[in-house]
Amino acid sequence: MTDFSTSPASTAPDRTPRRVRHELRFRKLAVKTVQRVTPHLIRVTLTGDDLAGFQSPGFDDHVKLFFPDPATGKLSLPTMGPEGPVWPEGRPTMRDYTPRRHDAKAGTLEIDFALHEAGPATQWAEQAKAGDILGVGGPRGSFIVPTEFDWHLLIGDDTALPAISRRLAELPAGARAVVLAEIDSEADEIAFDTQAELILKWAHRRGTEPGLSHVLLDALKAIELPAGDFHAWVGCESAIAKALRAHLVGERGANPKWTRASGYWRRGAVATHDSHDE
Ligand SMILES: Cc1cc2nc3c(=O)[nH]c(=O)nc-3n(C[C@H](O)[C@H](O)[C@H](O)COP(=O)(O)OP(=O)(O)OC[C@H]3O[C@@H](n4cnc5c(N)ncnc54)[C@H](O)[C@@H]3O)c2cc1C
Repeated sequence: MTDFSTSPASTAPDRTPRRVRHELRFRKLAVKTVQRVTPHLIRVTLTGDDLAGFQSPGFDDHVKLFFPDPATGKLSLPTMGPEGPVWPEGRPTMRDYTPRRHDAKAGTLEIDFALHEAGPATQWAEQAKAGDILGVGGPRGSFIVPTEFDWHLLIGDDTALPAISRRLAELPAGARAVVLAEIDSEADEIAFDTQAELILKWAHRRGTEPGLSHVLLDALKAIELPAGDFHAWVGCESAIAKALRAHLVGERGANPKWTRASGYWRRGAVATHDSHDE
């Protein structure tokens, strides 16, 4: 008699990532609290009735944040028409951010802002106080990566710490993860909450301008990777993300189908989101 419980078809884990679409909604939320987590990271907790129905099942989901006009304080948000969003008057400044933590019961949404030299999003976060308003659009969709790999590789800079934190938090006990994270110095290190067995390497820029530092690539080249099938996730400055992906696929045996590399920002350009996947 065939023992189906041990046949490859029934035991091989399904490692195919899948996309989930969500109804697009635009929300007007208010700042509840602002916390300086590290010298280069500000956590803004948002709240409001509009948060009802918010969903973010993917660890690297992103929302569009819409910022009020700094001169008038007015926030213009689109309404949803049959052909997509309809803008009432001019478009506000918008940037992509990761929903760091959503607590449906408490009615809160946390966004972590990595601080850098200049930019409207950074400026807004540095001045944010309770009661300020912010627009939130999406997430429009989620990319769900199964957890059934022998181990997981997560590489990113300050802007990817929210996504990396979420992935580590969702990995089950028994999972193994290697994290390479670029920040300026020890003062910017954060604690990760995870049940996974974690190998964590902080790569310090030590004053080198973000986007010009090679510390992530150097750290990746230097590290001995565990054996077995792995999913690799990369989020950082775009040219660096591309180089990390090329090294992973070209030199370290990463499966291109299980490697997801995104430019979360691009040096010298505003509001970019580059995918370096095939
Ligand atoms: C899917 C996705 C998720 C993201 N999630 C987060 C998140 O959770 N937290 C977060 O902090 N960021 C996140 N980012 C990155 C964030 O959207 C960008 O850093 C954004 O450009 C910041 O907007 P800004 O108005 O401050 O600067 P911009 O006006 O966009 O840029 C001004 C200048 O600053 C440079 N710049 C932009 N970002 C940085 C940076 N981080 N370091 C140094 N120079 C920079 C630009 O090259 C440009 O020259 C995410 C991006 C994507 C695509």
